Amino acid sequence: MLRITELKLPLDHPESMIKTAILDRLGLSAEHLINYTIFRRGIDARNRDSIFLIYTIDVETDNEQGILKRLHDDPHISLTPDTTYRFVTRAPMDLSSRPVVIGTGPCGLFAALILAQMGFRPVILERGKEVRERTKDTFGLWRKSVFNPESNVQFGEGGAGTFSDGKLHTQIKDPNHYGRKVLTEFVKAGAPAEILYVSKPHIGTFKLVSMVEQMRATIESLGGEIRFQSRVDDIDIDNGQVRGVKLANGETIRCDHIVLAVGHSARDTFKVLYDRGVYIEAKPFSIGFRIEHPQSLIDACRFGKNAGHPMLGAADYKLVHHCRNGRSVYSFCMCPGGTVVAATSETGHVVTNGMSQYSRNERNANSGIVVGITPDDYPDHPLAGIELQRRLEAHAFELGGKTYEAPGQLVGDFLAQRPSVALGSVQPSYTPGVHLCDLSSALPDYAIEAIREAIPAFDKKIKGFAMHDAVLTGVETRTSSPVRIKRNADYQSLNTKGLYPAGEGAGYAGGILSAAVDGIKIAEAVALDIVRNQEK
Ligand SMILES: Cc1cc2nc3c(=O)[nH]c(=O)nc-3n(C[C@H](O)[C@H](O)[C@H](O)COP(=O)(O)OP(=O)(O)OC[C@H]3O[C@@H](n4cnc5c(N)ncnc54)[C@H](O)[C@@H]3O)c2cc1C
Repeated sequence: MLRITELKLPLDHPESMIKTAILDRLGLSAEHLINYTIFRRGIDARNRDSIFLIYTIDVETDNEQGILKRLHDDPHISLTPDTTYRFVTRAPMDLSSRPVVIGTGPCGLFAALILAQMGFRPVILERGKEVRERTKDTFGLWRKSVFNPESNVQFGEGGAGTFSDGKLHTQIKDPNHYGRKVLTEFVKAGAPAEILYVSKPHIGTFKLVSMVEQMRATIESLGGEIRFQSRVDDIDIDNGQVRGVKLANGETIRCDHIVLAVGHSARDTFKVLYDRGVYIEAKPFSIGFRIEHPQSLIDACRFGKNAGHPMLGAADYKLVHHCRNGRSVYSFCMCPGGTVVAATSETGHVVTNGMSQYSRNERNANSGIVVGITPDDYPDHPLAGIELQRRLEAHAFELGGKTYEAPGQLVGDFLAQRPSVALGSVQPSYTPGVHLCDLSSALPDYAIEAIREAIPAFDKKIKGFAMHDAVLTGVETRTSSPVRIKRNADYQSLNTKGLYPAGEGAGYAGGILSAAVDGIKIAEAVALDIVRNQEK
């Protein structure tokens, strides 16, 4: 197959134009074109009045080598790379020890799936409930202010990505094409096939729920065992080697390999690991607010007269501003046509995040407007970042009136440094509700100062971003893990053999796709180690 990149066609092109463009680009006549598939479709909206679709297309012809020779100096034509996923090993028939996977977020699910596909019959332990029960508990907070610390947006089947926008782009380097394996498995589990080729794929919450169930069924059909409401409360380490896990119900499971895919909110688990002497260090993360604007404002700014075009969908944005006080403020986890959600995993805390459905047709656009912070801001202890998060989240709970409402302020009032008393034209989407107040005490002074500088700067890029009635809610603290559980080149913990820190919680991923890719890498490392040990 040949790959053509940067094939640029107008937004409203007819289907037949793709074929014509391929023939033109390759200098072919139609009878030599056997087939073609779209590998990627992106949007070039730099000029909003003249938007193009940019294709990467894989083409089957009867004369690949001839074309390559003739067009050897065209940088946009090459052989299609082989992205087929191949297992690194297979489980021995007499498998002597089953690996344990902690967590069923994207990282744990993919580690478990790959291990199961190789025949290692993993045991998967998840503190939360299966996804349908978990959905009821999550809605309990959103609709009735009833919070369950073991079953919520962070904890339960599918992990933190389940109630999300399901954005699947990542900037990780992926020379082995693991991302392709992830997307292919997602499609098998029910994701729309377009995630395989649109440049910024997303799935949406509703579909994610049934996909997670389908992946569970696949893992079980391959001999994996998934246990819900099975929180790991301790890890048995003997002479620097893991020997098993202890569950909250007192049960012990013996094992020599643990995939630790607990996500960034498993604060109690981080503490246990730290107490057991597992090497952990503090890591940078970000703090800030969610901001909501009318989606129509973002669409008009990004797409002009093309706003609302079905090929374009709801517009997104990505913003960054470097402030005079040395801080950087950026937009995080932007959710076009979505809602702001209550995302705490601890009682008496308020945390914001964002999600959307596949259709992305809610009235508001939201994103985190967050400030990067580093261990210099929370020095002296590897777990100090967690304590900072807790302080901010507990204070947000107080500012919000101690009912799980989020404290909120209109952007105009935030910039003018006065409390908000009434909403304007933008109705915030956060449930159970928004309690208007003054957010200036919700974050450290340097962060407030940075955000006050950044919002007007963002307005220069998106006209209306600093509109008076846009709504800020807080606090956004779970942007990434506040710790890193460092690992060696063989993916095992720096000082604990058999422990494989993985995914976002360990500081090795920052989203659904990167967490899933990390899960695949970890599964391979675990599998190879088990086979090596058994051959000894
Ligand atoms: C509301 C929201 C929206 C998001 N939107 C997006 C998006 O659109 N795109 C994107 O790429 N990313 C998004 N993210 C981030 C993404 O969800 C995470 O990066 C990703 O889920 C991390 O995967 P993970 O498997 O490493 O950890 P997690 O998904 O956090 O999974 C960890 C799992 O471990 C379980 N667990 C924790 N401790 C224990 C224990 N002691 N014993 C047993 N089980 C335990 C938890 O219950 C959880 O199920 C969003 C996150 C949230 C909260």
